Amino acid sequence: MTEIMLTQKIKDTALGMNVDFIGIADPVCFQNPEYMGNKPQDVMPDVRSVLILGVGVPRGAFDPLPEGRAEYTNTLMAATAILRIIAFQLAKMIEKEGYRATIVPTEGSEFGYWYADRETLKANMSIKYAAHYAGLGNFGMNHLLITKDFGPRVRVTAILTDAPLETEENIKLPFINEKCSSCMKCIEVCPAGAISPDGEIYREKCAQYMFNVLGGLRCGLCVKVCPM
Ligand code: SF4
Ligand code: SF4
Repeated sequence: MTEIMLTQKIKDTALGMNVDFIGIADPVCFQNPEYMGNKPQDVMPDVRSVLILGVGVPRGAFDPLPEGRAEYTNTLMAATAILRIIAFQLAKMIEKEGYRATIVPTEGSEFGYWYADRETLKANMSIKYAAHYAGLGNFGMNHLLITKDFGPRVRVTAILTDAPLETEENIKLPFINEKCSSCMKCIEVCPAGAISPDGEIYREKCAQYMFNVLGGLRCGLCVKVCPM
């Protein structure tokens, strides 16, 4: 099967399984000087494609926050679960074509497992950066991926593969969403003071709030208030 045919088969299968958006990034993007995180090449040295899969999260999960944190957290985990199932099917499909594939976690931690480094809270790679590079969105002040159709109300996962998939054209979107400079709502609402007007995010403050104050439930206020 050619590169184009395999790419199309993957996209058709993913969309048939109800992902809302899909993109493919060339992992060379992680060599860009602006990228400061861990690289997927450390996980899969011969990675040739980063396949990003995403679903929109129902708006009804955000409306009741902060009271509805249990429902919000459960809805996020449901989105994670469905992405995990879809990604697994696609990884199996890719391997049937003679390549290797592995799935990047959606969450930094989940049900007691730590997928990200406990100290730095850094994951093995930024799915959001790959998604930006693939043209799926850009970053908000809340450091979340802002997509065209769902704003920051999304869940994403990624597949690393040595399959040479057809990557998207270079992105045209600015790195930071242009609406942020006249908004700043996420900075004002954050109960942990984790989002700074200068563009910094203090992940440890967000994590401490969710794990120590909320007992592991997700907060989501910076997503709820986002007008995008
Ligand atoms: S999830 Fe809550 S604590 Fe974390 S950055 Fe957003 S508003 Fe702040
Ligand atoms: S709430 Fe406003 S400032 Fe924050 S990410 Fe959304 S648009 Fe940007």
